[in-house]
Amino acid sequence: MRVHLDHNATTPLRPEAREALFFALDRLGGNPSSVHGAGRAARALLDEARERIAGALGVDEDDLLFTSGGTESDNLALAGVLGASGPGATLVTTTIEHSAVLEPARRFAAEGHPLTLVGVDAAGRVDLEELTEAAAGATLVSVMSANNELGSTVDVGRLVAALRDRYGREAPWVHTDAVQALGKLPLDLAGDDVDLASLSGHKVGAPVGVGLLVRRNRAPLRALVIGGGQEAGLRPGTENVAGVHAFAIALELAVAEQISFAQTARSHVEKLWNGVQKFSPAVRLLGPPLADPTRLPNTLNILLPETDGRTLVARLDLAGLECSAGSACASGSLEPSHVLRAIGLDEERARAGLRLSTGRTTRVDEIAHAVEILSRTLGRTT
Ligand code: PLP
Repeated sequence: MRVHLDHNATTPLRPEAREALFFALDRLGGNPSSVHGAGRAARALLDEARERIAGALGVDEDDLLFTSGGTESDNLALAGVLGASGPGATLVTTTIEHSAVLEPARRFAAEGHPLTLVGVDAAGRVDLEELTEAAAGATLVSVMSANNELGSTVDVGRLVAALRDRYGREAPWVHTDAVQALGKLPLDLAGDDVDLASLSGHKVGAPVGVGLLVRRNRAPLRALVIGGGQEAGLRPGTENVAGVHAFAIALELAVAEQISFAQTARSHVEKLWNGVQKFSPAVRLLGPPLADPTRLPNTLNILLPETDGRTLVARLDLAGLECSAGSACASGSLEPSHVLRAIGLDEERARAGLRLSTGRTTRVDEIAHAVEILSRTLGRTT
């Protein structure tokens, strides 16, 4: 039996989303911008998807901009707001953001936009007071709702309220990368009154290649992709109707199942942690304590003594357990995780973190098997 505990990297396609995808691919031959029947059928499915997603997220249909995924949504939020706000526009973000935020942030800084990077504590938590303080005069604050490596989270609603309280009409725009939060934590974009939020389809059981930027409160945006008038001209290009349709189905289910998913995931993660501690008492938990109710329920990041994360990942893979060292997108690189560096680990230890993340399809017998594989493999490495 192979066990996949790398659901934060990507999670299997939901059967309902697969069905929706193939239905749309098989049935639709039109471009939603065409006025003929085939075009109108594609447009109708797109409109329906928009309506369903808006309903599930509690936002307006006009607030949704479909993109190719989380990376593009993050890029569009940052480049879009800074681009629309002129050369003096400034950005505040944190040291543990995904590279889809940090890399564009660094590019803007190189181009002359003032950038402030706010650090985190040893568990990867952002101090909201420090962030609010750092946001004085900023154009945009970008902070992730949930960290993909450590499972630490930010109360974005509290941040928005603190910024408005402190700066009133001068408060910066707020963007949140909510890619890992969707379906795992309660997400209330309207209640939190956040201006921009990035979501990604393949993290909730939709196919890869579809994402969303939720844009509210008329946040200023300049398009990154230039072309026709689709998505209000802010994300032109013929729409990925089948992908969007599948995303709508997956997103609705992920939102509806969030509470029960979180309960199961928490229990799986506790079992994993207890199992690992039994055979490796020196193991250290990275990120917030498991008892912290605000943490991402499905994510366990552990530091095992005297191991190299990447070598261990390869050995575990051979033994039948799929997980990652750091984030999946960075794990092919030789660089230590910037997130683990940000919580104060030295280079060597920042290479030793092992991330295990459970998903909707994870079963309790798989958790037991994963512990067994970890114990056997670590028995040989330490
Ligand atoms: N933001 C976070 C927090 C992520 O975990 C990821 C994916 O790993 C992304 C953004 C990028 O999303 P996508 O793979 O859809 O481009």
